[in-house]
Amino acid sequence: MNRRELLRTAAAGGLAAALGTRASSQAQGEDSSPEELIWTRKVPVRWETDVAVIGGGIAGVTAAAAAARSGARVLLVERFAVTGGMLTVGGVANFCGEMTGQGEVFDEILAGLRAWNAIGHERPSVFHYETLAVVLQELLLKRNVKLLLHTRFVDAREEKGRITEILVCGKSGPEAVRARQFIDCSGEADLARAVGFATLKGRPEDGMQLPMSMIYFVRHVDGEAQGPRLPEGWFHPVRREDDLPMTSVWPDGPGGNAIKIKIPLFDATDTEGITAAEIQGRRRMWEVMDYHQQVEKKPWLLDHCSPHIGTREGARIVGDYVLSVNDVRAGRAFDDGIARGTFYLDGHKPDDDKRTYILPEDELEVPPYQIPLRSLIARDGKNLLMAGRCFSCDQLALSSARVSTTGAMMGQAAGIAAALAVEKGCDAHDLEGAAVREIVEARSARLEV
Ligand SMILES: Cc1cc2nc3c(=O)[nH]c(=O)nc-3n(C[C@H](O)[C@H](O)[C@H](O)COP(=O)(O)OP(=O)(O)OC[C@H]3O[C@@H](n4cnc5c(N)ncnc54)[C@H](O)[C@@H]3O)c2cc1C
Repeated sequence: MNRRELLRTAAAGGLAAALGTRASSQAQGEDSSPEELIWTRKVPVRWETDVAVIGGGIAGVTAAAAAARSGARVLLVERFAVTGGMLTVGGVANFCGEMTGQGEVFDEILAGLRAWNAIGHERPSVFHYETLAVVLQELLLKRNVKLLLHTRFVDAREEKGRITEILVCGKSGPEAVRARQFIDCSGEADLARAVGFATLKGRPEDGMQLPMSMIYFVRHVDGEAQGPRLPEGWFHPVRREDDLPMTSVWPDGPGGNAIKIKIPLFDATDTEGITAAEIQGRRRMWEVMDYHQQVEKKPWLLDHCSPHIGTREGARIVGDYVLSVNDVRAGRAFDDGIARGTFYLDGHKPDDDKRTYILPEDELEVPPYQIPLRSLIARDGKNLLMAGRCFSCDQLALSSARVSTTGAMMGQAAGIAAALAVEKGCDAHDLEGAAVREIVEARSARLEV
């Protein structure tokens, strides 16, 4: 099957099927959970805390750090060995949007990167992502956040909208965390989906998400230096520039480049979908590597590929307010505005691997806009907040607000709100937006639009 056929098959919902897997169970209307295969098991409640955060990306780290700063006992669950999410394991290594006025947690992260001489060498916003992982873990530990690495959120217990415990699984096996407030920063809304709270995914007509991209790193070598190359007979070597997927190349330290290639049509919320995306991403990486080495004669060898494919969109949790692209375009302010977005509508077309956007290119710029607290509070729950990629918005609003700086602002606000709800003994819905906003601003977040 050639590339054109593969894309056509994928457009019909079957790229993963073409790879021997499945792009999206939802799109195909299948239910793959064999409900008869249920087993029971006693699980100890090993941790009790005030605020439990699921996911240690920029949103989860800033949420945990902010809740801890408010005096709450905080636990953060991260499935990988390091925090940082897309910024580290996804290889993004770059801040977009405004870097000042994002709140004291983000300020401390920036100060940490500067202290390590790990940001701003090629561009002010490009950082060394291995160092970010260290800066984030030390920030959490300094604030007494209980950090669980290699620990995956698996399931949750919920009664009448109140989440009581979450089931996590690390190396010591399944264990439970009891908390008063929960913050879902998983990007794929794992906690909300586990308890059946409403979520949104992809574009309205077919659920197709913003495309993924694989990010990998090359180093420059002299002359005939030896290293891995695509062997004959493997994959579909690219010979014409027109056959390349959207490819971005930027500097990555002395003698190196980072490269990002677009991998559309996979579902990040589906086990087989994300598996197929990783497989396709690594195949495509080698096809593009081969083009650079054989056609463009670049003196490049593969250094490493990000351990996780770059995921722009997973699932979004329906909150008390769903931020829309119209709000974003209007530069809307809210009485309970607690974060501010400034980035353009970076909505890549979901079903195309070229540099194409959902909107015409002259409609991408937006004025600064606010995100209301209500978009960080799950509509269907009493004690579930969210931040980052899974906050409550439509797909095009996400295409702007998903950037790391805005994610950090949302995280800080969600952490402040969760800690305040614990302190007041109230549900997240009963928080006064103005009270949260006051603390958010006092902690160096600029909200003016
Ligand atoms: C290709 C690409 C390029 C981008 N370029 C830029 C850029 O240049 N600048 C910029 O600012 N932004 C950029 N972004 C956007 C930005 O990087 C992300 O949107 C942002 O970092 C997401 O933060 P997050 O915390 O919401 O989610 P994530 O970073 O995805 O974090 C989610 C975390 O939750 C963890 N997790 C998930 N499920 C579970 C579970 N079940 N149990 C335990 N842990 C779990 C994950 O391991 C991860 O650490 C880019 C994104 C992509 C994909």
